[in-house]
Amino acid sequence: MNNAMDTKQPLDSDDEEQAYYQRSIQPKADQWKKNSGDVFRASCLKTKILMTVIFGGLLIGSVILLSFSHNFNDQLLDATSNDQLLDAASNEELLVATINGSSRSETPHDKLLGGLLTAGFDEPTCVSRYYQSSLYRKPSPYKPSEYLVSKLRSYEKLHKRCGPGTEAYKEATKNLGHGDEKNYANKSVGECKYAVWVAVYGLGNRILTLTSVFLYALLTERVVLVDQSKDISDLFCEPFPGTSWLLPNDFPLMKKIDGYGRGYSRCYGTMLNNHAISVNSTPSHLYLDILHDSRDEDKMFFCPKDQTMIDKVPWLVFKTNVYFVPSLWFSPTLRPELMKLFPQKEAVFHHLARYLFHPTNQVWGMITRYYKAHLARADETLGIQVRVFSDQAGYLQHVMDQILSCTQREKLLPQVVAQEESKVNVSTNQKLKAVLVTSLDPEYADRLKNMFWEQPSSTGEIIEVHQPSGERFQQTDKKIHDQKALAEMYLLSLTDKIVTSARSTFGYVAHSLGGLKPWLLYQPKGFTAPDPPCIRSTSIDPCHLTPPSHGCDADWGTYSGKVVPFVRECEDREHDGIKLFDEL
Ligand code: GDP
Repeated sequence: MNNAMDTKQPLDSDDEEQAYYQRSIQPKADQWKKNSGDVFRASCLKTKILMTVIFGGLLIGSVILLSFSHNFNDQLLDATSNDQLLDAASNEELLVATINGSSRSETPHDKLLGGLLTAGFDEPTCVSRYYQSSLYRKPSPYKPSEYLVSKLRSYEKLHKRCGPGTEAYKEATKNLGHGDEKNYANKSVGECKYAVWVAVYGLGNRILTLTSVFLYALLTERVVLVDQSKDISDLFCEPFPGTSWLLPNDFPLMKKIDGYGRGYSRCYGTMLNNHAISVNSTPSHLYLDILHDSRDEDKMFFCPKDQTMIDKVPWLVFKTNVYFVPSLWFSPTLRPELMKLFPQKEAVFHHLARYLFHPTNQVWGMITRYYKAHLARADETLGIQVRVFSDQAGYLQHVMDQILSCTQREKLLPQVVAQEESKVNVSTNQKLKAVLVTSLDPEYADRLKNMFWEQPSSTGEIIEVHQPSGERFQQTDKKIHDQKALAEMYLLSLTDKIVTSARSTFGYVAHSLGGLKPWLLYQPKGFTAPDPPCIRSTSIDPCHLTPPSHGCDADWGTYSGKVVPFVRECEDREHDGIKLFDEL
């Protein structure tokens, strides 16, 4: 439940906001004021010329009146001075202007994100949804297609018609789970079909897989319902208006879902192996196992012939830990629709995640407090996400070496120099760069922080290093731990440039949500830093790790760009990952 604290809008103009404005926004606002002042003065000049002509025409030859005209125009200029212009702007608008680095007229505040979002939600119950989110993020260069927007509006209607509590939902669940699968075909299931998403693995995995299942539902006219037995509603607001995406607790299969696995008789791969499914004989529900180590049979899910069969099943229950969107593009039946929905192919997750995932007020408070305290004042921000997949827990020196080597080679961070080598005149206007490090281990940020404190940077920039949490180990399903993880992914997504760790879904969510092409740190082999340490991705979309490598037909074994040119190997996972690219 939301309490009063939760529903407070973080940028309402109370004392705290005023102080924040003066401390953080005013310096940037002054710069904006200076810039917009130039534009404003130009328009006043035009007014001035016009007024002069009018007065001159009325009172030709009158020196006195010409002089009056001059004074009048000066007063006009003064009266609408930049100060007044700024006074008229609310703190929120200034924040938009300053974060976007340009004037409001150039970047109109688009709280519906180009039509991705629908108006009409109650704003205070989820402040991140509209106004607040677009305040902290630069406008995205990726615009949703009109077709995607209209498809989302149709989906919302479908969800409202079929969602929990509706007649259609009652009809669809009436005969489910009674074990009478044989006569199932004769029973009415109503007009709606469903895709149930079950929460497994870490939060990054969950966000990527829920997005994949949602897209699949969008493409196949199913309604997505979300397993709420984990802490999903402590993390995200409801995304669809006038209905709920939470799978009701009295869902007939609820008690059994946790136990679903490859041994389950309704597991799709198992049914295929047992020749227990055909187009003419489909069950009322199927369990789909799309995990990193799933069998080829399970991954037949992606094949067009199998889809014809699966399409007849009203209830699909997914357990997945991979972002399977890229593999959907191989299907000749789904591809034309996908191309219409996403003319910019690499922006699939970027759009769908901004549509689906709105942090709850509690998480949003964590995000905005941290942002205001540590990132808002900076001239530039850099995110560094450190995820170590190693049996050896804790700080690893070669990972630190790799981070430094990557950030310095790619000119993301300056070198440090000896004090006497520091050529920077302290009186010059020094730039402030804020570095946001996220990691389970606090040592990487600590070392960076010390490095830039003990010695000056070669460029003279001031480097501030911050790390919100250092949880030491993964504690998935512990509410505050997951909330911190979400807040950190989101904060990373607000940075200007980002370095992420190979293979990490935590990092994938952060860069793709932010529309950022990341520098990907290669996964170290053994205990040495890889050389080169990182590579700049040319796509913002996440990688589908462990995609199907078997064949639906002859072409499938060669899943690389030969089959679909814009689905290619991931830079950080060359032989075992595919992703969407726009650049050919
Ligand atoms: P992946 O394992 O890197 O693909 O990412 P996941 O998000 O799926 O799983 C890792 C989990 O470990 C996260 O969800 C968090 O619970 C925790 N975790 C890993 N790195 C961080 C971090 O930098 N900050 C926080 N707060 N938690 C982290």
